Amino acid sequence: MTDSRAEPTVFERIAAREIPARLVAETDRVIAFHDIAPKAPVHVVVTPKSGEYRDVVELAAGDPDLLAELVEVAHDIAAELADGEFRLVFNTGATAGQTVFHVHAHVLAGGLEEATLA
Ligand code: ADP
Repeated sequence: MTDSRAEPTVFERIAAREIPARLVAETDRVIAFHDIAPKAPVHVVVTPKSGEYRDVVELAAGDPDLLAELVEVAHDIAAELADGEFRLVFNTGATAGQTVFHVHAHVLAGGLEEATLA
């Protein structure tokens, strides 16, 4: 799928170092940073550097290897910042709470046994 956006997404701007963020991990195609409004003791956003895919359904269909890489990076982050266990959330669509239409995973970790985060 070709990116037809007029403007770069906020996450593309973070990847391009145009917007500051607290980076946690980076590979050739993926970047991870602390969420600006954390909802868990560890709350990291893991996203492709390119905003070509709007959501996880498009990503799974278009580039499953990249989706697998997001999961691998999420696991590495949970191992480094928590105990290796984590919740991975992909909000998909506005009515599901998605506000940034550049596919990203929320990595939530650190004592969520009682939490009902979505
Ligand atoms: P929601 O805003 O409802 O969580 P999304 O699933 O689209 O919807 O998630 C976007 C996430 O990106 C939010 O958790 C938000 O706090 C985070 N975010 C937005 N802008 C920035 C930024 N500049 N730096 C870090 N995190 C950001």
